[in-house]
Amino acid sequence: MDDLKTPPMRDPRRLLKRMRELMAVQENAQARLDHLTAMIAEEAGWDVCSIYLARQSNALELCATFGLKAEAVHHVRLQPGEGLVGLVARRARPLSTSNARAHPAFSYKPETGEEPFNTFVGVPILRGGRMVGVLTAQTSQERQVATDEIETLQTVAMVLAEIVASGDIVDSEEMAGLDVRQSRPERFQGGAFSGGIARGVAVLFEPHVESARLIADDPAREEERLDTAISSLRIQIDEMLDSGRIPFGGPTRDVLQAYRMFAHDRGWLERLREAVRRGLTAEAAVERVRNENRARLMKAADPTFRERLHDLEDLANRLLRHLNGGAKSAELPDNAIIIARNIGPAELLEFDREKLKGIALEEGSAQSHAAIVAKALGIPLVGRLEGALDQAEDGDPVILDGEFGVLHIRPQLDVTETYDARIQTLSERRLAYAELRGPAVSADGVRIGLHMNAGLLIELMALDETGADGVGLFRTEFQFMVAETLPRLSAQSAVYKSVLDAAGERPVVFRTLDLGGDKVAPFAPSTKEPNPALGWRAIRMGLDRPGLLRYQLRSLILAAAGRPLKVMFPMISAPWEVRAARDMLDRELRHAERAGYVMPSDVKVGIMLETPGMAWALEHAIDTVDFVAVGANDLMQYFFAADRQNSRVSDRYDVLSPAALDLLKRVRDICAEHDTPVSVCGEIASKPLEAAVLIGLGYRSLSMAAPNIGPIKKLVSGLDVEKLGTWLASRLQSPADSLRPLLLQAGEDAGLPREAVENGRGI
Ligand code: PEP
Ligand code: MG
Repeated sequence: MDDLKTPPMRDPRRLLKRMRELMAVQENAQARLDHLTAMIAEEAGWDVCSIYLARQSNALELCATFGLKAEAVHHVRLQPGEGLVGLVARRARPLSTSNARAHPAFSYKPETGEEPFNTFVGVPILRGGRMVGVLTAQTSQERQVATDEIETLQTVAMVLAEIVASGDIVDSEEMAGLDVRQSRPERFQGGAFSGGIARGVAVLFEPHVESARLIADDPAREEERLDTAISSLRIQIDEMLDSGRIPFGGPTRDVLQAYRMFAHDRGWLERLREAVRRGLTAEAAVERVRNENRARLMKAADPTFRERLHDLEDLANRLLRHLNGGAKSAELPDNAIIIARNIGPAELLEFDREKLKGIALEEGSAQSHAAIVAKALGIPLVGRLEGALDQAEDGDPVILDGEFGVLHIRPQLDVTETYDARIQTLSERRLAYAELRGPAVSADGVRIGLHMNAGLLIELMALDETGADGVGLFRTEFQFMVAETLPRLSAQSAVYKSVLDAAGERPVVFRTLDLGGDKVAPFAPSTKEPNPALGWRAIRMGLDRPGLLRYQLRSLILAAAGRPLKVMFPMISAPWEVRAARDMLDRELRHAERAGYVMPSDVKVGIMLETPGMAWALEHAIDTVDFVAVGANDLMQYFFAADRQNSRVSDRYDVLSPAALDLLKRVRDICAEHDTPVSVCGEIASKPLEAAVLIGLGYRSLSMAAPNIGPIKKLVSGLDVEKLGTWLASRLQSPADSLRPLLLQAGEDAGLPREAVENGRGI
């Protein structure tokens, strides 16, 4: 039994320190790996240490060894599952045995000269959860391998993964064809949620730890950092759960409960601490444990395990953010294309706008506010790109196609060239749209007002460029979502004044704060709510906390000073709400008058029609308002009871169904009967076929993101409004699930311009 005893452990931190020193030495790739194997064998007390790396063919090639025959290097290759090394690779977990030859998976390779070695241990080399190789150690003595020894090798393997993936090794001649960094081009098809095409470099929004920060200088201090970050992570999760303010684009309540459980899971914490004790930085420890979980769970057949993987990954990301001192968004490289699982609108607004060129999400939906913000920023956003995060690496060249919803990672030259041509065509088309600066008039002479939706000051530059008739919706909450504290009266007023200045003679509709639901501001009041979209949001918050709304109304009055002011209240669900909101505005106007402000030259009050309840009570509120704007994003969300942010259901029902169109027609007819101007400002106004149908229903004013104005103006110019109106009128009671296929089929017979229906997507 005596010879089964393990030798006393050496200090793994010394090994890591020596590895770091070695990394600083200039030498070629092969020499570096050779030195590493020798050093690991010496420091950890093994007769043999070898590094096998995966080739693109999946075979594991012996790339460096100390103790086996040198001639075997680059000659011995094992298939995944073949031999002990192959088994480690296939299972993506460590394996040890005191008698290698007796192991059922043993495969004899005489060229290695490994006969004298009995004890074997192999650990996977993982990078981003992918198996890139196997690190093995052997000794002639038959003995048990201690958990400690395996831990040390795993820690070394993590550092090794980064060294191997570094440029000088990957690019070296000996290692050509290694599958260490992903190199294959990948194409993902998702949903196009904000248009445009971007070429740039991938920035994973769950960043990988860089090799320079892998090895700790002071392990005791690292453990402290880890503990502090874990405590703040736990506090943050508790706060999110207790406040009920589950952030948009983030986890749901159930997932948060799971996070809370994991964040207190002793196994997870112990593995993190252990990795730090062995000399890794806290960040590297998180990364290592994440890689192991990822490699293991990605192999699981059961989809619920994969769900769990997402949860664990999110948790690891959060922990990394806490370790970075809560830094919200890292420095972006030029032409950055963010790849993330999901993202909130406030997070998006925090990035450097000069550098951010596109957003690729594994989740996301067309009506989400992240998509709306992306449109506001004029950058493409593509969602539902399942698996993209696993295939991309930071710095990979990518092309994001927001027109067709495609992400290309590491595209080949022919793809890049095709896109260069398309980018050129797009910019020519944009120039052509810019030529259409005049008013939008249909083929049969009907004038359609095209206004823009905005929320950021920079967007207003597009007013002249697009020839928009005005700003149909200014989302005032964007300013609040990026502020740490409630913007002061003067700051609010300054923004509104700049908007009015930029608009000049053109009308601007300011929507009062639409916070709550998916839009969170750091300082906004919050409550515990099971269904935030149906909860205390928008005007409900404004009426219950009048301080916030009154302050905003006062800022608007101040900003207008001598000019017309149009104010619109969001999410009105019943007539009494608009009466109460209007009263508040009247009080503020009286206050302004008493205080001697320069008063607005004219004040108009509108509501956003966003709930079916209000659509049915419209007759009872219409005399209280001067105009109505149909917020079709929310109206359709509530009409179909389908969460606009939930990619599983957001596009499940078609707004071109007769039932939905009938509702929209009813709203427009009531407004017409009362001579009350009405417009549509949800995302449907920016889609060609939907916009055409709205016009066919009688709407004469649409508001949309600036880049859509040109294409819609073009559409309008080819539209026979009367013909379309007649075609629609006889079909609103149709039993069809949607009029879309019928419209596309009817084409010109329904008054649609030919280009609008040629590709089914519109022009
Ligand atoms: C809407 O709901 O249609 C709308 C325009 O408002 P938001 O998208 O900001 O909720
Ligand atoms: Mg809305």
